[in-house]
Amino acid sequence: MIPILELKTQYAEIQQELEEAVLEALRGTHYILGSQVSAFEQEFAHYHGQDDAVGVGSGTEALHLALRALELKPGDEVLCPTFTFIATAGAVGLAGGTPVFVDVDPCLYALDPKLLEEKINPRTRAIVVVHLFGHPAPMGPIMEIANRHNLVVIEDCAQATGAAYEGKKVGTLGHFGCFSFFPSKNLGGLGDGGMVLADTPERLDAVRMLRGHGSRVKYYHEVLGTNSRLDTLQAAGLRVKLRHLDRWNERRRAVAARYTEHLKEVVSVPGEAPDSYHVYHQYTIRVPERDQVKAELAEKGVGSMIYYPVSLHLQEAFRDLGQTEGSYPVSEKAQKEVLSLPMFPELDEARQDQVIEAVQAVTATRVAKAG
Ligand SMILES: *Cc1c(COP(=O)(O)O)cnc(C)c1O
Repeated sequence: MIPILELKTQYAEIQQELEEAVLEALRGTHYILGSQVSAFEQEFAHYHGQDDAVGVGSGTEALHLALRALELKPGDEVLCPTFTFIATAGAVGLAGGTPVFVDVDPCLYALDPKLLEEKINPRTRAIVVVHLFGHPAPMGPIMEIANRHNLVVIEDCAQATGAAYEGKKVGTLGHFGCFSFFPSKNLGGLGDGGMVLADTPERLDAVRMLRGHGSRVKYYHEVLGTNSRLDTLQAAGLRVKLRHLDRWNERRRAVAARYTEHLKEVVSVPGEAPDSYHVYHQYTIRVPERDQVKAELAEKGVGSMIYYPVSLHLQEAFRDLGQTEGSYPVSEKAQKEVLSLPMFPELDEARQDQVIEAVQAVTATRVAKAG
């Protein structure tokens, strides 16, 4: 079976430098924060053309703490796409706000700027934008609307580390950039981890304070924060992996280009907007009868995944928001048709060919049947 994601080849490729770095941190016995975390914060910030960054416990916590920094009051609304991972809107709820869903663009799956303004009212405080599957959201129009209404923009960059919009890296386009180092992400750690970038030192300081129990001076607490720091051993491993990120993203793009070349006639392939550097966290096609296609691909030894089968407005966890089926048609159609194919930098051409041939065969029988 060709898996949707495989980490073993990558591990073998960087085993020596990775193990040396982690072992050095392990033997250093400074396990919370310390020089590894601050060095990685600096390196990650510099990679983004920024001066500083704050390492946190996960991507979810990155979003949560950025939203906490806004000091939301009950009833404050935060706009976010409905076609995304739960953490995007979950973090809004955790930070005391109310998520207000917006439908997505059918091609890029990003929050559709045309639908934003009708959702803005005096209670609206912020927008969480998601660069889903590694494709940057249309930040130009989104920032224009946000600035006009004085809204804070938080970028959920969990799936898009290294992606760029008009030559600028995602995470530096809005007011906060939130990243995840969950092992399957483009820059994946050896466990959970996350990072926050911000456009001002004040915003970043607020997050840094919140990650350490609301304190700047030890045992003096200004607000109720939490304990959510990037782990030292994770930072040591991530410093090594960051050095390979651009090369890995280029390889993802090469795999995607090859898939697209051979599949564009038979299925709906992912779009790439001009001026966008897509990093293909997922390669997601659209097919009718998706569940059967998935099963038939599995019979041919090709793994695939459904990101995501249920839009957030239809999730049990958000039932209190009283949303019903039919209110977000683009997202509801996408959840029935999306299928993500195997995608990782080390996917060699032989296995790419197997995926391509399987998708062609499965869709050819359908076309024949339909004819
Ligand atoms: C993975 C992910 C997150 C959460 O990151 P964790 O590190 O797993 O907490 C948030 N948003 C999106 C879109 C994600 O894919």
